[in-house]
Amino acid sequence: MAYKRVLLKLSGEALMGNSRSGSIVDPGVVGAIAAEVLEIVGLGVSLGIVIGGGNIFRGVEASAEGMDRTSADYMGMLATVINSLALQSAFEGVGIATRVQTAIAMREIAEPFIQRRAMRHLEKGRVVIFAAGTGNPYFTTDTAAVLRAMEIKADVIMKATKVDGVYDKDPVKYSDAVMYERISYNDVLAKDLKVMDATAISLCRDNRLPVLVFNLQKAGNIVRGVSGIRIGTLVGD
Ligand code: UDP
Repeated sequence: MAYKRVLLKLSGEALMGNSRSGSIVDPGVVGAIAAEVLEIVGLGVSLGIVIGGGNIFRGVEASAEGMDRTSADYMGMLATVINSLALQSAFEGVGIATRVQTAIAMREIAEPFIQRRAMRHLEKGRVVIFAAGTGNPYFTTDTAAVLRAMEIKADVIMKATKVDGVYDKDPVKYSDAVMYERISYNDVLAKDLKVMDATAISLCRDNRLPVLVFNLQKAGNIVRGVSGIRIGTLVGD
């Protein structure tokens, strides 16, 4: 295995798949993620996950429409808890021992985030899903992913996207967009590439945490990524 401990960052939208049913969580998509996670856990990889909430609610968008930003952000953080529980349920369904730890206390449904306890779960081979972002408004789940990755001493963040990696321009709009195999943190920031928000990328740079940006929609990519098979774009020094 190229990486022994991995923090996987999923966007909330990733759970929707292409389902037209209007459902916020597509059981097929979540099931496919669970199957890949089962495989890498079986290979001995220790895994933490941060999931976004964009399939349900985004604070920035609601505040642009007039809602108080702090309230909107708390709603966004609650959305990530819903997604975390959906993932946990799917993981447990295929036999993966999973714990949800939340940055905002809600003890009836999840453990509070306690770094030492998270480490203990990981050492025992349990997957830990970190819910409620950082617990603070004005942050994103990308930043939460970087923070948790450092706290659990992950070797890498695997950031799942809908495209193959990081491009010089939007590959959905421009057919001549070129994908980088490697790119530096500073280039991501200077070129304002939409990999993660600037707070998250600077935190990676300051702590030299590599980010592997990859396409979640290609079956087998999570397994390839942790095995060190070349996929996506590696953001590093
Ligand atoms: N959020 C927040 N603080 C955090 C993480 C998330 O306030 O530490 C809120 C924010 O409103 C954000 C929403 O939760 O819009 C959902 O997270 P995000 O947009 O990062 O989800 P994704 O785009 O990855 O699905």
